[in-house]
Amino acid sequence: MTTTPTPPRAETEAMIAEVLSHYPAKAAKFRAKHLKANDPEGSKECEVKSNIKSRPGVMTIRGCAYAGSKGVVWGPVKDLVTISHGPVGCGQYSWATRRNYARGPWGVTNFAAMQVTTDFQEKDIVFGGDPKLEKVCDEINELFPLAKGISVQSECPIGLIGDDIEAVARTATKKLEKPVIPVRCEGFRGVSQSLGHHIANDAVRDHVLGTGGDTFKSTPYDVALIGDYNIGGDAWASRRILEDMGLRVIAQWSGDGTLNEMASTHLSKL
Ligand code: SF4
Repeated sequence: MTTTPTPPRAETEAMIAEVLSHYPAKAAKFRAKHLKANDPEGSKECEVKSNIKSRPGVMTIRGCAYAGSKGVVWGPVKDLVTISHGPVGCGQYSWATRRNYARGPWGVTNFAAMQVTTDFQEKDIVFGGDPKLEKVCDEINELFPLAKGISVQSECPIGLIGDDIEAVARTATKKLEKPVIPVRCEGFRGVSQSLGHHIANDAVRDHVLGTGGDTFKSTPYDVALIGDYNIGGDAWASRRILEDMGLRVIAQWSGDGTLNEMASTHLSKL
């Protein structure tokens, strides 16, 4: 197997300068923050600016906070049903555009590739959509009895009209006897998709982490593989490497992950 040699830093910088020279001055100045040459000998800090508002265009455009939470963190967890809560468009246009692979029969124990929405209409915007969310949770429970839980991914209107999805989730959790997790990831929040990742992970921390794990015996070799969304199956490859090293992966999320793995993550040694 041959490997492509890394171009010298000066060469990469010249290439970036060439790319930027085609932009209007203002856009080039902005874009320059997002383009840096890799320097293996230099600072270990990432010089590429992130978690700041990105300017739409090649390479730096990102989705909204809802896209970050639903598409990246919660959607790939396979054994819970993810609701795109609000009008149909957000869920529909973000449906199946990511290749988060997950094992298991669709609609039975694997719901990662499905698009479930509360499909808000005008009356829901005017009078509130909490009753509809409650109804959809009931329907999901009836249609997919093997689903281990439900996550509610808020689209913009939910925050704008002031729905109380936390109250609905609390009631539904008791009624259905499975976790219903409210996520306040309305698209208008934060700089971009990036804040959606933060919000989603805060919800994992607040509602899931530490709630499971009494189903197996711990070993000193237990590790968790976090932050791989299994796009194209890459988490499977990483997992195999860890297992070949003699480690036991007790949690892998969110790609091809399960709610119980997330809930047991605190038991890992690394
Ligand atoms: S910005 Fe708001 S309306 Fe647009 S896709 Fe994101 S959640 Fe939906």
